[in-house]
Amino acid sequence: MFHDSRLGTDWYTSSDHTQSIHLVITEDGSTCKKETFTWSYGRYGRYGMYKMYLSRGFRFVRYGLHQKRFVKNTAMIRMMHGGSSVSEALEQLKDISVTPEQSDLYKEAVKIYNPAFSTSHPAFVALPYNADDIKRCLQIAHKTNTPVAVKSGGHSFAGYSTTDSNGFVISLKNMDQVQLKENMLTVQAGACWGDVYSALDDTSYVAVGGCVPAVGIGGYILGGGYSMLSRGYGGLACDKALSFTMVTADGNKLVKASAEENEDLFWALKGGGGGNFGILVDVTLEVCPRPKQFIWTRLIYDSKDQSEQGLNAVGKNLNKFPKELNLDMALHGYFGKKMLTLDAVYSDIHEDKVQSSLENLHPPAETQPQTFTSYLQFSTEYSKRHGFVHQEVEPIYIKGVMIDSLSPSLAKYFADLDIKPHCLLEFTHMGGNIAQHSATSTAFPFRSAQYSFYTYGRFQLKNTVQREEVLKFATSTYDAVRESGCSLGSYVNYMDRHLKNWGENFYGVNYPRLCEIKKKWNPLGQGSLHFQQEIGSSWEPTD
Ligand SMILES: Cc1cc2nc3c(=O)[nH]c(=O)nc-3n(C[C@H](O)[C@H](O)[C@H](O)COP(=O)(O)OP(=O)(O)OC[C@H]3O[C@@H](n4cnc5c(N)ncnc54)[C@H](O)[C@@H]3O)c2cc1C
Repeated sequence: MFHDSRLGTDWYTSSDHTQSIHLVITEDGSTCKKETFTWSYGRYGRYGMYKMYLSRGFRFVRYGLHQKRFVKNTAMIRMMHGGSSVSEALEQLKDISVTPEQSDLYKEAVKIYNPAFSTSHPAFVALPYNADDIKRCLQIAHKTNTPVAVKSGGHSFAGYSTTDSNGFVISLKNMDQVQLKENMLTVQAGACWGDVYSALDDTSYVAVGGCVPAVGIGGYILGGGYSMLSRGYGGLACDKALSFTMVTADGNKLVKASAEENEDLFWALKGGGGGNFGILVDVTLEVCPRPKQFIWTRLIYDSKDQSEQGLNAVGKNLNKFPKELNLDMALHGYFGKKMLTLDAVYSDIHEDKVQSSLENLHPPAETQPQTFTSYLQFSTEYSKRHGFVHQEVEPIYIKGVMIDSLSPSLAKYFADLDIKPHCLLEFTHMGGNIAQHSATSTAFPFRSAQYSFYTYGRFQLKNTVQREEVLKFATSTYDAVRESGCSLGSYVNYMDRHLKNWGENFYGVNYPRLCEIKKKWNPLGQGSLHFQQEIGSSWEPTD
């Protein structure tokens, strides 16, 4: 029999250790009626179950426990319990926290890129200034049984850098230092790529980083991170990482991971995804000599037939493009008219080689090349033209998969596709130096990918019909590409709460090793740094 009266609420269980627990909540009051729950034990022991139930009801769902009614009631119970532990946590973290009472600051602090996940907000946001503050946050979260989410740039497509009012967010916004020493750059996880490009602008170096300046270092690099420079400058951003500093998930230690120290963690942090192992404090990256100019030209295929020709031309030349060329593609269906655009980005160093490969694509129209000496200016302009300038956009859903070829039948499928007005198909160029590393050399497995394909769909928050339409459309394109035989798995940085069999899909051949490393650094069911699609979790989407 358990008894907990922290909120004036009595909890009883008549478990017999083996089969089931019956929990009777007896509380007078308008929010909570007398209820009984029954579920199987799962792999947690009696005490584990009880503890988990109080602090993280949602975890039970993945054990298939008393499904629908359970979820509803669990939410209510979590609220009651959360009120207690989260306020205790706030009490101890007041000096570095922003609360809803500080209205403007709080509004700013809880912002995330995808408002589809802004419908509930954390009880407060802790804003550490250094690794010791991060340690304190995690230790207090652990002690008070409070769930936490960590945020660097807040660009998680699936909203995993925030939480509801039962928990709090650890935002690294105040940890955004960038330091260059020779050709090594140490960047704190709370910086964004714009901070890096700005720090390097007056130097002779460039960093392999995200094409959108507002994207955060923390989440981006932990998922691998591809860049318009990846093909020609040594691979993914994580391939340029020389070492990481991380606070362990229990908040007890600050550890270094490199080729010499904690090698298992070093391997896992290069593509194993944010929020899994601990809180990244900083990363040291090797930077590359910068060319004099970056050049950007757009090739335009302005009809259904032209789009098919363009896609076929790219498909035929996939293995012939020089690695110094980055050729992202987008397929639009605006106003019922199909249009394919190819954004060619390269530098002055290999201009001739690149120009002749672009001629092989026989573009019907081409914009005048624009040149940039500043990478910051180039990435800002590029993002602006792609509508990615804002810190927060409209609600979006993204579903994607890596492809290693583009067959004529797939080109025809895309050209014939009736693209929904709020959707866009994007293809980000991979290959080149990304493929010089093996699938198991880092946690990022899809080294043979030639493109990262995804559907980007926008919807209005309250328009459930539109949301369903976007989800259905994105899923149908995903299914078609999977069936084409050209696909590998999905990119963990395009986190997707509707992806089935997501563990294998995100990590492929590296999943079993990642599960082992995760058990060592942040075991399931212990501590406060957890989320639905963390490595090793058996949670699966139901829709
Ligand atoms: C507009 C836009 C452009 C993008 N462009 C690119 C691109 O060019 N190339 C590319 O590869 N990807 C790109 N992405 C995807 C991007 O890499 C991911 O969304 C990435 O997770 C964002 O990192 P963040 O720090 O901004 O996000 P956050 O939302 O802060 O974090 C993402 C995840 O990582 C966790 N996390 C954050 N910080 C830490 C930390 N310090 N320690 C441990 N875990 C942490 C969070 O809890 C969350 O689960 C883009 C995304 C957007 C929205």
